[in-house]
Amino acid sequence: MIEERLIEEFVEKDKTKLLTGTRVNTIVRGSMKHFLDEKGFLEINPVIISPISDPLNHPVDDPVLSYYGYKYRLTKSMIFHKQLALIHFEKIYSFSPNIRIEPVERKNTGRHLAEFTQLDLEVRDKGRDFVMGLAEEMLNLTISNVRKVIEPKLLNPLLKEYSMPFRRVRYLDAVSAYGRDFESIMSSEAKEPFWIIDIPLEEREFYDREKEEEKGVLMDMDLIYPNGYGEAISGGEREFSYERILERIAKKGQRKEDYSLLLEASRRGLHPSAGFGIGIERLVRFIVGSKDISDVVLFPKEIGKYVL
Ligand code: AMP
Ligand code: MG
Repeated sequence: MIEERLIEEFVEKDKTKLLTGTRVNTIVRGSMKHFLDEKGFLEINPVIISPISDPLNHPVDDPVLSYYGYKYRLTKSMIFHKQLALIHFEKIYSFSPNIRIEPVERKNTGRHLAEFTQLDLEVRDKGRDFVMGLAEEMLNLTISNVRKVIEPKLLNPLLKEYSMPFRRVRYLDAVSAYGRDFESIMSSEAKEPFWIIDIPLEEREFYDREKEEEKGVLMDMDLIYPNGYGEAISGGEREFSYERILERIAKKGQRKEDYSLLLEASRRGLHPSAGFGIGIERLVRFIVGSKDISDVVLFPKEIGKYVL
């Protein structure tokens, strides 16, 4: 019976990893919240369903639900709601649950779940450098807080506080040096987190801002963990003007009707901004040093599986 298997698997989970993962999760969330609150950020509640969500740059199933007869989507990221929130506030963050029915090919990566949480933040009138600095400081502080209370033998043995600013590598330089699979090669070789910056337009969604001085390249970035743990963060500066958003939607071959809410808001006036999202479960996995993200999460939505 499938129910029997599900409950059996749940009860038999590795208790040490699960407990450490959950303790780390508690500290990670608390540290980040404290760090951002001190800096004057406001925590906004996550949006779970809305007519509009992140198109993403890779194919995922996009379940739609009927909401009083209207078509709503489950949140894949809060990108557009972050931009809208900045109409009222200057700096915001949210612990935002995301649903992404990822392709089944991603089931053995050890770092993909179909339901996960991003600490998603956005700052009005600031650029990429500002939010990169925030991310570096926040990551180091979080690691330091974890190491104060959790016994080292339960954590990733290679974990430390990292020297700031983190190294920056331009996307095209990474491709020339390591080829298409640069991310996993560089992540495995690295001892410190590093940034991949200036990602080509076709690799990302329409909302990340195109460089003024270098067409086809975006003012965005990914943070990559060392020791083979892969991507930690994606973020960047955003497009905010009606004309440019319209142009970028067209370049992606997407339908402007699908983004009429965003277009309407940009017509009224969106602010320039920058921000990023950091996956909480992935950060916990890295800190604990777990091969599989599912081992450190209580109810992991494993890709392609029927789960609790
Ligand atoms: P994205 O903007 O799509 O790069 O997502 C932001 C961050 O969320 C990523 O850098 C990851 O840390 C995390 N993330 C994205 N997709 C997943 C997933 N399927 N499972 C777990 N974490 C994810
Ligand atoms: Mg990403």
